[in-house]
Amino acid sequence: MLGPVILAASRSDRMRRLISAAPVTKQVVDRFIPGETVDDVLPIVKDLADRGLELTMDVVGEDITTPEQAAAARDAYLELIERLGPLQLGTRAEMSVKLSMFGQALPGGHELALTNVRPVVEAAAAIGTTVTLDAEDHTTLDSMFAIHEELRKDFPQTGCVIQAYLFRTEADARRLSAAGSRVRLVKGAYKEPASVAHQDKREIDKAYVRILRTLMEGDGYPMVATHDPRLIAIAEELARRAGRKNDQYEFQMLYGIRTEEQQRLAAEGHRVRVYTAYGTDWYGYFMRRLAEKPANLRFFLRSMISH
Ligand code: FAD
Repeated sequence: MLGPVILAASRSDRMRRLISAAPVTKQVVDRFIPGETVDDVLPIVKDLADRGLELTMDVVGEDITTPEQAAAARDAYLELIERLGPLQLGTRAEMSVKLSMFGQALPGGHELALTNVRPVVEAAAAIGTTVTLDAEDHTTLDSMFAIHEELRKDFPQTGCVIQAYLFRTEADARRLSAAGSRVRLVKGAYKEPASVAHQDKREIDKAYVRILRTLMEGDGYPMVATHDPRLIAIAEELARRAGRKNDQYEFQMLYGIRTEEQQRLAAEGHRVRVYTAYGTDWYGYFMRRLAEKPANLRFFLRSMISH
């Protein structure tokens, strides 16, 4: 039951300072976050694309505290998109954004986040690709869905994420499974109260399957984001039953996790998109990866002790 403790630590400034300063941290972080700058990450983009994988790019960061930081986040994405343009990957390299990084939690944050994310979506469209809005904790979701709806008026390809652990998500999935929508389904990575979310892993998995069925039977484009072998097999079966071809849905996994499985699915003719995060503000992203798998935490702690 270490997951919730680590997720609580992911919001603590004191833990952030302690963990960031540990000399061994960088080695472990590198497994999940392959660099701090665009220059670090572009060779990774080319390598994954050469191996038949697609990408969704995340400039890490969240919970910013000033409008200037939000503008800097927007500019970091604009720089990334400008550098991706000449590679001509089109939708093979799309962007994932967290609205908290664009100012969503600041006063007037809904409008601020929309103002900051719009130019990113426009720039992505100009190089023939698109943006997906990540799902953060449940208090942010009404605003995220409203921004998603607003962006889709001009950029209908804009995607969003729904989280199977939340009770609300079955209704959200029905609303979002209409033609033209792109929806990523995940289990959910935040510490959520029992009043809004399933706490039991089996209940979350069951909800994931129900929601996946809704998406596969709907008219949108499902993005099946999981490393769970059982759910991947179920997704293939649900897609087959719904009469979907391999290019009518896709799998998504995180950089550095089950890389052989990513390659295996791609070799079988599936679309596989790798969520590739980079940047200096990696703490929150890294802590969620530790919380997801106790073995990651054991490895991290062992490295600290033996260092
Ligand atoms: P699990 O049951 O957690 O894992 C299944 C198996 O996968 C494990 O047994 C293990 O073998 C492997 N595995 C899983 N996680 C790890 C790990 N960290 N390290 C090593 N092995 C691991 N969550 C959100 O709340 N909002 C988002 O916007 C969001 N976007 C995502 C985008 C993508 C592309 C992916 C893949 C995940 C995203 N997540 C997001 C995270 C998600 O909610 C889960 O926390 C995460 O995917 C782990 O769940 P799982 O489905 O892989 O299943």
